[in-house]
Amino acid sequence: ADQNTRFDLRNDPPIRVTLISETKNKHKIAITTHHIAIDGWSLPVFLDELFALYDAPDAELPRVTPYADYIRWTASRPDDKAQGFWRDQLGEVEGPTLIAPDASGQSASVTLSRQLDVTATRELESRARDLGITLNALIQSAWGLYLSRRGGQRDVIFGTTVSGRPADLPGVERMVGLFINTLPLRLRPDPALPVPDYLRHTHDRLSAILEYQHVPLSTLQRIAGHERLFDTLTVFENYPAGPADDDAAEAALTVERHSQHGGDATHYPMGLAAVPGKRLRLTLSYRGDLFGAGDAGQVLDSVETILRGLADPSDRKLGEIGLMEAAAAEGALSVLRGADHPRKDQSLPDLVCEAARLAPDATALISAEGRLDYAGLERASAALARRLAGAGVKRGQIVAMLLPRGISAITGLLAIMRAGAVYLPLDPDYPRDRIASVLEDADPALILTDRQGAALAPDHPHLLTDDQVPAPISVPPVHPDAADPAYVIYTSGSTGRPKGALLTHGAAVNAILSRAERYPAPEVSVLLPSLAFDASLAVIFGALASGSALVLPEPGAEKRPAELARLIERHGIREWISGPGLWRAVLSEGEADLGSLRLVVLGGEAIPDSLVAAHRQTVTADLWNEYGPTETAIWCASAQVMGERAQNVIGKPIANMQFLILDASLHPVPIGVVGELYIAGSGLAQGYLNRPDLTAERFLANPFAPGRRMYRSGDLARWREDGQVEFVGRADQQLKIRGFRIEPAEIEAAIARAGHPQAAVIAREDRPGQKRLVAYVVGQPDRDALRGALAEALPDYMVPAAFVAMEALPLTPNGKLDRRALPEPEAEA
Ligand code: AMP
Ligand code: MG
Repeated sequence: ADQNTRFDLRNDPPIRVTLISETKNKHKIAITTHHIAIDGWSLPVFLDELFALYDAPDAELPRVTPYADYIRWTASRPDDKAQGFWRDQLGEVEGPTLIAPDASGQSASVTLSRQLDVTATRELESRARDLGITLNALIQSAWGLYLSRRGGQRDVIFGTTVSGRPADLPGVERMVGLFINTLPLRLRPDPALPVPDYLRHTHDRLSAILEYQHVPLSTLQRIAGHERLFDTLTVFENYPAGPADDDAAEAALTVERHSQHGGDATHYPMGLAAVPGKRLRLTLSYRGDLFGAGDAGQVLDSVETILRGLADPSDRKLGEIGLMEAAAAEGALSVLRGADHPRKDQSLPDLVCEAARLAPDATALISAEGRLDYAGLERASAALARRLAGAGVKRGQIVAMLLPRGISAITGLLAIMRAGAVYLPLDPDYPRDRIASVLEDADPALILTDRQGAALAPDHPHLLTDDQVPAPISVPPVHPDAADPAYVIYTSGSTGRPKGALLTHGAAVNAILSRAERYPAPEVSVLLPSLAFDASLAVIFGALASGSALVLPEPGAEKRPAELARLIERHGIREWISGPGLWRAVLSEGEADLGSLRLVVLGGEAIPDSLVAAHRQTVTADLWNEYGPTETAIWCASAQVMGERAQNVIGKPIANMQFLILDASLHPVPIGVVGELYIAGSGLAQGYLNRPDLTAERFLANPFAPGRRMYRSGDLARWREDGQVEFVGRADQQLKIRGFRIEPAEIEAAIARAGHPQAAVIAREDRPGQKRLVAYVVGQPDRDALRGALAEALPDYMVPAAFVAMEALPLTPNGKLDRRALPEPEAEA
């Protein structure tokens, strides 16, 4: 009760003592103090004096330096020197280091404690001795490395509690009072750094900041320009020894046992305290409303693993230290696996063929041109496949398709695959130059197109779907296997030109069959994504493999949300798959009745909270967040959005696919820690067409499955205890604008070709919800001319919305583009 009674500092003394006499000679004494009177260091000093007086009540205690001397000492510090030092330390902080960025309010902290074993403790001590550093430096180094790994940040800051007792104030060590201060410690645990260098660096930093430890934290926050610079705290409790449990017979008073309760209540979400001893004690205190005991245990596991890594005298690089022991890493890998489902040797058209056999009269396609049933679709695609073969198309060759959304296009892509060829979709809306550059890169045997499309690519051999030519009968049917390449889809390339990911039938079939394992049958679906992207394959084959009907809106309808909303009502569409942006636009069309929808799957980029709310207000359909790079066959994970926020949860991998969340040295990371997402399994692309260099960069040997590969997604992610994965952001510059994947370097290359070699392209969101591309061009570009040149070379979503003329591009001290220094464009840019 005493401990839970607050001090009223206006009326009470900041210390309370309760003496409980059990017998004449046996007593308990409870001393409760407010922090303002006594800090951790002061406590043993105070107890020493107290017990000295019990021993000899008349003795005079040695004189103690008055607190006023300390105040005078502080006041005499040259202000500008300290400020200069801290400006140096905290200059150009990239951002705060926050373990709980959304935390608000306060809440009681919970603690979890453990002790290292004697050997591990001794090893740490001898490592510190060998390097000439303190044990404290080792602890701080470990926490810095942990934060860096957890947040995926190279440059981290956390608070460290210092005694605040200046060494040059005589007698300061015997003073009782509140001296401690919290200082920001900034560390850069670069994975390439040798461990001893990092440790020595921490040690030096710690000694340096001690010289300026009296500056209040609020001043330091102002210097750094961040009110919340960090939200974790470390303390190394190296206090003077407490009262000895002495049994000297002559002493008037013997202390049998003492213990300390409560500890410090802090308002930081997480703090690590280390107490040296025969067995080093680590205590994690954390806000119970933000973290669970499981999380806390993981943190301590990681810190302990890191400490062991730091103590290891073999000269390793920081990057070689993992956060998990081997067994735990194994466990992490196994949680992030989809089910093992052996698949039959099938191709994509086989799936449609099977559906057609089951229900030949069912409607397959619905468009403004009319309807086509499954039997009709089979006949038409088989006939066109024979025409392609008759035109000389061989198994494994690439056949491009340049057709607008419509029955011909669906028939065409099935025909290309049925001819054993590799389907390469091109969007007729793309500028001529763009189409030409993809054709040049992929060099297809033939283009399947119509008269309009043929005019866009006049120099390539083509086959026209609008010709009424009877199919040759004699050509033997080709039957592609699961191992045959099925399609090649181009995405933006960071080397300045687009790259084509090449996928097999087997990979795509796994993606399509997995849809039926996770979602209800589409029944009536609608094709929205451009055929040039693999999301269209999810919709097309998701519908056609399950005997569902696929509605084909007219070309360009995706720019007319009201028309799409009416389409939902007219056809009783039950499944909707698109990017979040288009769904938002349709939801805001109040006119039509969207009640037929049962399932809405949004993918390609994060779902904003406001969209979840709009969805819940307007429809009752289940909402799913789907994830998948083109390089891993259409999709590889999804999660149902249950509450009011999608929280970037992308869920668990689909069958035969696996996530690996790894740190810079390819070690699996523990729960809650940000790592890069690697993807393995049967859905992986064969690689990039004709680009062995790029393929080798992104498709790496899977260190956990010899002989297998894994795809490096460039996405940052973390996983939760329940195995759900959360998307955190990008490890590189790749962007998404309206769901379109964009490498700014590709746009910069196009700007360079237009005569402006120095340019930077970024995405800005100066108004919430309005993300747009902005190009910063050195020189005096003619905006209209430049915009025109780009519109001829790039798809419209890659043409920047604004151009800003710059004298030079702002650089950070280490010579990289300083994105934060790029100004907001003016209205007319
Ligand atoms: P794409 O190859 O066009 O499908 O783009 C794949 C990339 O889009 C991924 O690597 C992610 O960066 C991003 N992405 C895809 N789905 C999601 C999602 N559900 N949430 C957040 N980002 C996503
Ligand atoms: Mg995708």
